[in-house]
Amino acid sequence: MPRFADIAFPTAVRRSFTYRIPDEAAGRIPDEAAGRIPDEAAGRIPDEAAGRIPDEAAGRTPDEAAGRTPSQKTGDDGARVSIRPGMRVWVPLKNQMAIGMVVRVHDEQPDFETRDIVRALDPEPVLSEELLRLTDWVHRFYYSSIGEAIQAALPAGMNFMAEPYVRITHDGNDISLRGIEGDVFRFLTERKAEHEKGTDISLKEVARAWQTKGERALYRLVKKGLVEIWQIPRIRMQPRMETLWEWREDVREQLASKGVDAVIARHFPGTSGGREPKWIIGLRLLSALPIPSTRQHILDQPEITAYVWNRIRESGLVTSREVPAGQVRSVLPYEPDGISVLNDEQEKIFGPVHEAISSRTFRRFLLYGITGSGKTEIYIHALRETLRQGRDGLILVPEIALTPQTVRRFHLVFGDQIAVIHSRLSDRERYDAWSALQKGEKRIAIGARSAVFAPLRNLGLVIIDEEHDPSYKQEDPAPRYHARETAIMRAWINNAVILTGSATPSLPSLQASASGKCTMLRLDNRHAEAELPEVRILDLKQYRSAMRGPLAVPLFLAVEEALGKNEQVILLHNRRGFATFIQCEDCGEIVECPHCSVSLTYHKAKRHLRCHYCGYSRLMPKQCPACDSEAIGELGMGTQKVEDELVALFPNARIARMDQDTTSGKHAHDRILQRFSRGDADILMGTQIVAKGLDFPNVTVVGVVNSDTELAFPSYRSSERMYQLLSQVAGRSGRGSKPGMVFLQTLMPEHVALQFAQKHDFPGFARQEMKSRKNLFYPPYSRLVKIFFRSTDAQLAGDVAEVFTGIVTRLLPGDRVMGPSPSTITRMKNIYSWESHLKIDPGKGGGYIERLFDTAFAHFEEAKPPSAGKVRITVNVDTMH
Ligand code: ADP
Ligand code: ZN
Ligand code: ZN
Repeated sequence: MPRFADIAFPTAVRRSFTYRIPDEAAGRIPDEAAGRIPDEAAGRIPDEAAGRIPDEAAGRTPDEAAGRTPSQKTGDDGARVSIRPGMRVWVPLKNQMAIGMVVRVHDEQPDFETRDIVRALDPEPVLSEELLRLTDWVHRFYYSSIGEAIQAALPAGMNFMAEPYVRITHDGNDISLRGIEGDVFRFLTERKAEHEKGTDISLKEVARAWQTKGERALYRLVKKGLVEIWQIPRIRMQPRMETLWEWREDVREQLASKGVDAVIARHFPGTSGGREPKWIIGLRLLSALPIPSTRQHILDQPEITAYVWNRIRESGLVTSREVPAGQVRSVLPYEPDGISVLNDEQEKIFGPVHEAISSRTFRRFLLYGITGSGKTEIYIHALRETLRQGRDGLILVPEIALTPQTVRRFHLVFGDQIAVIHSRLSDRERYDAWSALQKGEKRIAIGARSAVFAPLRNLGLVIIDEEHDPSYKQEDPAPRYHARETAIMRAWINNAVILTGSATPSLPSLQASASGKCTMLRLDNRHAEAELPEVRILDLKQYRSAMRGPLAVPLFLAVEEALGKNEQVILLHNRRGFATFIQCEDCGEIVECPHCSVSLTYHKAKRHLRCHYCGYSRLMPKQCPACDSEAIGELGMGTQKVEDELVALFPNARIARMDQDTTSGKHAHDRILQRFSRGDADILMGTQIVAKGLDFPNVTVVGVVNSDTELAFPSYRSSERMYQLLSQVAGRSGRGSKPGMVFLQTLMPEHVALQFAQKHDFPGFARQEMKSRKNLFYPPYSRLVKIFFRSTDAQLAGDVAEVFTGIVTRLLPGDRVMGPSPSTITRMKNIYSWESHLKIDPGKGGGYIERLFDTAFAHFEEAKPPSAGKVRITVNVDTMH
């Protein structure tokens, strides 16, 4: 039986710690040991008694601790299970008790004294062996701590949190306490009586009631031995109940026999006919939905807003009851037989995917298909095949694409087998989705980046839609993983098939397909022969005297004509970073770093331009370095301003604006799209959000107000991003039977991204871009690593950046280290930051970066300046910036 366990903690400390598993014979924790801390000193902060853990109480949940005398043994709970990898445990860590995750059990006696595990917190592992392998890979490959990687794989609500509790240990009858100390003590005494069984009051509660002063008084009470503070793990949540809504019995009968009109006429005379209030319309919609259902499912219908729902509820036509969670069907339509028959082109490429799924071995496919070619249809067919094989499926989409419309398409075929994981879920909902997958109640997970860790039991297929999307990379906080690469590793671990798809695949994926690591599948045609739109580049220099507000005349006329024919228009204006964006209005020149070929960032305060990769800087030029024009300066106009001008230009058009400001609500994004899709708006205008969307067959004109904005963001990827954005937004035009037009306004008509976007020639663009990446040794020809130095002490941040970068430079010979330089936004909330960039040869293998930084940090320990501890050093492997 293993006698030791390696345990990870959710801190930045890179590695796990070894603990002893008590009771060597069985690997079990005997009753007597549970709740006892072996090391007498453990859990005490010598002077401050804060965090001190009385022996008896340590390691109990609030329930257990409540109402038990210290001499009572803990019952037959988590303490008796054998310790296995993937379980959370309660252990002493420094002067505290903490929750850790067992990552390995073994018999290798360490050469230091080990402390004992106090108790197990889970009866069964909560992380599978497979996910432990995956998180270990993330930890090494992205140089995060093992605990950070594990934390990313656990849903909130099943985490590493412990909470301090307070307990009176003295009846206080024979002592007199004055002032706030006395008040706090009396408060605790009263609360003690209040909590029937309980002796447990959380420290938070005390802090809330008494604020800082009271907290200090509390610590004095602790010192006097009248009060104790101890930590309790916050562990697994109890299964919960859910509220189910349904029609009132008589209403259900009326609906069935007479229909919704009769119900409305009977209960709300006078509201029918004419202009109906929104909630009556909502009521009609609800009558067509499969209920009983939950409020959350009902609100998945964008038409049923919280307001509408509240009115329906208040009307008394619906009633509720409580049922165990997770048994409630969604109201989304479900027609498993409604799956489309693949067309010939789709059928041909589905062949190899089907075969790979049947073979149950690791295979990687890149599905390169223009927008509208049916990639989603392929995903659905592949998923169905995987389920037939008895295996589970994981679908990753960019957060922004995780709209009810996307989900609806999968739901139509797979119904409630799907667990949707998105950022708007509460901790509770996230936990429920997670545990439904873990228990095998759901077999498909669909979600954004973090869903790559969804606990599917028997993963057979991973799908990544829009696989080039930068939101798959977590830049902050750690672990700074890329979900695509992580998913590839996960598929490999599981002998699963991975299918990534895009109209503009990422360069790493293209390189993988060129080198035979993955199979490319192409869809070259839109389904049902919709034509790709004609793209026109509008050189703003030529139209300087022919502008209508923000639009050059040809675009203006096209919009006017489309509106006249009752067709719809999409206008994109990405205002990202426009304030730091310096461009010559005469020739379009954007000043670049001579060494790194990325745009320089304008620092207003010092009036200079700086490269955020290598630190090169120069004064803000007075004239354009290319054409000597003096018309050089900040460019750009916010979406709000553009909207105002459009209102003036097209007074009769209904304009829907969509950007971060208008889409903060839960379904706001979706509602705007619905409104546009219904034809209740003529012009949809907004930031890049408008580029990702659905079929709007009536859209015939798409315009980009300034195509150059992507270049404002200084990055080796700016061209690529520009191409992706332009081609995506262009794909919105002409999706129906009417031919579409796309207008790209620019000051740089010759830019490669524009030129190739005009021809819809992604392969051409990719070839060109690969060449320039190769020349400058940028990814995918190198792995770009960013080291970030942050401190409140400006001088110290710079010093540490110098020393650390110096060490790395010596370890990494050649011209591969850029920086250090102050970050683009040097000072943020009084934190000063510096950064360095490394280009690392991918041929060195996955472990190289880990060894490099282990060595660098070891050298740094010896060479670091005094108080270097005040500088946070973070490593971002494969950064996209
Ligand atoms: P992509 O994911 O590549 O953008 P979609 O799968 O969304 O493409 O397909 C675009 C449109 O064409 C959708 O409305 C889809 O339903 C339709 N479509 C694609 N393939 C088929 C097919 N085989 N049968 C019926 N409709 C299809
Ligand atoms: Zn110029
Ligand atoms: Zn540079």
